[in-house]
Amino acid sequence: MSEIRDLSLYESGERKIEWVRSNMCLLNSVREEFERDKPFEGLRIALSIHLEAKTAYLCRVLAAGGAQMYITGSNPLSTQDDVAAALVHDGLNVFAWHGATAEEYERHIRKVIEAKPNIIIDDGGDLVNMIHTNYPELIENVIGGCEETTTGIIRLIAMNKAKELKFPMALVNNARCKYLFDNRYGTGQSVWDGINRTTNLIVAGKNVVVAGYGWCGKGVAMRAKGLGASVIVTEIDPVKAMEAVMDGFKVMKMEQAAAIGDLFVTVTGCKDVITENSFRVMKDGAILCNAGHFDCEVSVARLRELAESSYNARNNIEGFVMPDGRRLFVIGEGRLVNLAAGDGHPAEIMDMSFAIQALTAAYLVKNKAALNRAPGDMINAVPEEIDNEVARRKLAFWGVEIDELTPEQKEYLNSWSV
Ligand code: NAD
Ligand code: SAH
Repeated sequence: MSEIRDLSLYESGERKIEWVRSNMCLLNSVREEFERDKPFEGLRIALSIHLEAKTAYLCRVLAAGGAQMYITGSNPLSTQDDVAAALVHDGLNVFAWHGATAEEYERHIRKVIEAKPNIIIDDGGDLVNMIHTNYPELIENVIGGCEETTTGIIRLIAMNKAKELKFPMALVNNARCKYLFDNRYGTGQSVWDGINRTTNLIVAGKNVVVAGYGWCGKGVAMRAKGLGASVIVTEIDPVKAMEAVMDGFKVMKMEQAAAIGDLFVTVTGCKDVITENSFRVMKDGAILCNAGHFDCEVSVARLRELAESSYNARNNIEGFVMPDGRRLFVIGEGRLVNLAAGDGHPAEIMDMSFAIQALTAAYLVKNKAALNRAPGDMINAVPEEIDNEVARRKLAFWGVEIDELTPEQKEYLNSWSV
């Protein structure tokens, strides 16, 4: 039972999955444990994460743990049809294809929810939203779920506060082994991979404007500097703005940066970060892209209204011609540039994020009686032991050894009188 573009593409998908598998040492070790312990035997998992090779390997690891998998993507442009085909060829249930329309995207989410999942693995909240809004009768089947990204967590916290969240959710993004590496180094590298392979232009010497200096923004700005750009940061949080200044970046308002930027990257999770007043003053040839949750950070809809015409400038780049003749370029429809115009974060990074996903999903099943599950108290942190275990295993795979506290040091660090 699946809905994908073309099953015959599976061999190409299989090669992609094999490539990442050989670079995902943590998931390989989790897979061995799951094959032995079968933590998900008899359970159905609904998963919505960017459907490319690393996610596919996560799905295989969960299936190795006994789960029946129901899979969809978390963005219509990040699904890779050959990867989806490889999973279906394996017997997993996939509902996703590249370039899905809004209606198709919603239908695919409905399909995985209609499978009556016991565990939900979400990226941005689409599955959690769908089950609460349209399938409340299926909520009782759900043991709990995991959320992958910052914006998804903001939404869960709001739902929980309003007592609308009806099952326990674990905040995978907030584990240290997730946001410190995935958001910073993963986004830092994959955003530039997406921009560079799509534009094939030089970054050195350009004025690069990074909107948002959170974990993702720090990574994007750091790598832009490494590529030789002159980096400008925009922020709304005074402390983050100060951090950017101390890290050596120029900080200013977007309306000032708009007039001097050559290349803009938004990573705020907010909306209308680059909009009409900026479009009006941007230089001819300015390139805009987004790496935050949704395609409303750069107001592409407003740009389309303001522009006289638009054209396909290059694969995945739309050129907008303004009434005064200036051309503004948008990569990947203003959706996550690293996934809509690239393969997302590298395998070794998703290895950490997905090891946390897999181990936390097993934790939810094993500890379901001990989870926070009262109305208004459905939010669960990823246990520190999982976070530390992921770091310990990764260091061991790298052959890196670290010191351990002696009993005397432990006492010293916990005392107040010496
Ligand atoms: P964060 O909370 O650490 O950082 C966001 C920053 O943006 C904050 O410092 C905030 O003050 C700032 N901000 C908010 N509104 C702003 C505005 N209007 N103008 C300027 N700055 C503004 O979050 P994060 O972990 O860095 O994630 C940022 C976004 O990226 C989220 O939507 C998250 O879901 C998404 N994300 C994307 C990827 C990816 O692969 N592309 C990876 C991880 C997270
Ligand atoms: N539904 C949103 C999803 C937010 S994406 C959307 O509109 O696209 C942000 C998440 O993508 C991050 O937390 C990161 O962990 C994840 N990600 C980045 N690279 C990835 C990859 N190669 N495969 C799967 N997920 C990836």
